Amino acid sequence: MAAMTFKSTLLEKIVRSTDTTSYRFSRPPEYAFKAGQWYTITLSTPGGPLDHHFSHADSPTESVIELTTRLTGSDFKNALDALTLAAEVEIEGPYGAFLFGYDTPKIAFLTGGIGVTPVRSMFKYLFDTNGQGRRPDQQLTVFYGSMTEDGIVYKDEFDKFERSLAGMRVIHVITNATESWKGYSGFITADVVRAELPDPREWTYYIVGPPPMITAMRKVMEQLEIPKSQTVIESFEGYAS
Ligand SMILES: Cc1cc2nc3c(=O)[nH]c(=O)nc-3n(C[C@H](O)[C@H](O)[C@H](O)COP(=O)(O)OP(=O)(O)OC[C@H]3O[C@@H](n4cnc5c(N)ncnc54)[C@H](O)[C@@H]3O)c2cc1C
Repeated sequence: MAAMTFKSTLLEKIVRSTDTTSYRFSRPPEYAFKAGQWYTITLSTPGGPLDHHFSHADSPTESVIELTTRLTGSDFKNALDALTLAAEVEIEGPYGAFLFGYDTPKIAFLTGGIGVTPVRSMFKYLFDTNGQGRRPDQQLTVFYGSMTEDGIVYKDEFDKFERSLAGMRVIHVITNATESWKGYSGFITADVVRAELPDPREWTYYIVGPPPMITAMRKVMEQLEIPKSQTVIESFEGYAS
């Protein structure tokens, strides 16, 4: 799909957790992309234009572009959060090759925090299209790291995807879990993957998130002796932590 540049307006702002917010922008009908792709958004500010890259958190089946991010206090994030409804931005896209493998027998997603955005896009698309095109025996396991239970972004939706999509499981891993948390706590490690996947070397790993997450998951891949040809990586360059 060829990239295009267009004006878009802010339609809605949704607070997802204490530090994570989604911004919904209008999407022209002629703009086409695939779940997992990203775009560049440019904001006009008194100090000049500011741009950043974002994965589509929305699915091609939805009518809006959803940008989900952590508010860090940076100039860009402050300008984004200051946008009023109907404010105009410029979007250029789509780009990227982090695309769902319909023929891949076993896919494990290793993601954390805001890295969930393209994963949400892919699963929302699968959900809306009833998994059409997937090989019937496909297994999908999402290892989803979050700092706190309350901070799991899109939790209700992932619960719904898990109930509806055959062969899909979501494994939450909470860094700062409360005592009542029954699942994994800490980080996604080789031990967590081994405990959930009896045959880890038979899986293809989709790894996405900020650079520190990518570095940590590359180590997990080494520990599990996964060949590079079985990893698909999208690094959110620009996120310091
Ligand atoms: C393909 C892709 C998809 C992304 N999707 C999302 C998403 O869905 N949600 C989301 O929140 N973020 C996403 N990001 C990251 C996003 O573009 C921002 O970099 C991030 O949100 C941090 O922005 P900031 O304004 O808070 O920090 P900034 O002030 O822009 O930067 C934070 C730190 O990173 C450094 N830095 C800035 N740009 C770069 C760079 N290009 N390379 C290396 N270091 C740099 C800065 O010097 C600073 O130390 C994505 C990035 C890429 C490349």
